Amino acid sequence: MKRIYLDYAAATPLDKKVKKAMEPFWARKFANAGAIHAEGEEAKKAIENARSSAASVLGSKSGEVFFTSGATESNNLALFGIARHFKKGHIITSEIEHPSVLEPCMALEKEGFKITYLKVGADGIVDPEDVKKSLRPDTILASIVYANNKIGTIQPIREIGQIIKDYRLKTKNYGLFFHTDACQASNYLNLKIESLGVDLLTLNASKIYGPKGVGVLFKKTGVKISPQILGGGHEQGLRSGTPSTPLIVGLAEALVLTQKMKNYESKRLSELRDYFIQQVLKEIPGSKLNGHSKKRLPNNANFSFLQKEAESIIIKLDMMSVASSSGSACESQHQKDEKEERYSVRFSLGRHTNKKELNKVIEVLKKIVK
Ligand code: PLP
Repeated sequence: MKRIYLDYAAATPLDKKVKKAMEPFWARKFANAGAIHAEGEEAKKAIENARSSAASVLGSKSGEVFFTSGATESNNLALFGIARHFKKGHIITSEIEHPSVLEPCMALEKEGFKITYLKVGADGIVDPEDVKKSLRPDTILASIVYANNKIGTIQPIREIGQIIKDYRLKTKNYGLFFHTDACQASNYLNLKIESLGVDLLTLNASKIYGPKGVGVLFKKTGVKISPQILGGGHEQGLRSGTPSTPLIVGLAEALVLTQKMKNYESKRLSELRDYFIQQVLKEIPGSKLNGHSKKRLPNNANFSFLQKEAESIIIKLDMMSVASSSGSACESQHQKDEKEERYSVRFSLGRHTNKKELNKVIEVLKKIVK
């Protein structure tokens, strides 16, 4: 059987147009963007064009876009960058963040920062009221994922952004910022900074049909953060290290392309996702959908199969040519629900997924669970 890939939330294939845009910068136009000669200028121009493309997708200024090695680094830079700038304070996050947010939070907790890990309901969504109740005079940052990577639930970022803005104005606490990790959301959801009301935002290329190993941290002008990688002072001194021209060019191209396809793909995949969910729940006794049925990414379906260990299902699916993944939404060491983790299977759809493939997966899954 031809292999069926349903793990797009982990990695997406490189778009042909992205590959083409990157191509000249590997061997031919290889110069260091920091060099003064014509070759260096050419690389610098490519990076600055990429920065302005990314900024126009975000509706931000070019100077607010910082290139990193990926979302892990962007998240670390946001969390540690704010914390180290303020030196003390309180941070609000949720129990359904990616480890690249939770681990820095846990490390900062050991350094004396106070951290609130918001719980989510059975639907996997953070309640904005809980953010409101957790705000305190010493809160310096709230970091809430835009869409969860395991169960795909979409978080009320605009509402939280508004709550933070209101609190900031009411208390005149201008040292309070809002960060969101938008990696999983960027193919499908609104990325305009102004309407989201965020001060910092993380993106990476590997989830948007771009190359692995490159990301963005958007940081609003005026938000002060401490750099975490010191050296030659690249990226306005916030992130030293020779920028990778091909990866940065690829990220920008992927971001622009995915925005063009957003409406079409969101609609197409939402229909496929709903069909898949409906069929699995109907055809497989004991199956349960994890997370909210509608407020989830168009490409995410996450199930538990009554008392069936996820790992054994995923291995059997793999043996029968289907690539899927595991995991519950709770990543935190504090909150980790071993039971949920053991029983959740994630199917994440993408540009090459079609109904025929999903029908095959349902047939295979029926046999495995039985
Ligand atoms: N944040 C989220 C929500 C993710 O899904 C991922 C990747 O799985 C990351 C961060 C880490 O991304 P990277 O591998 O680019 O560091």
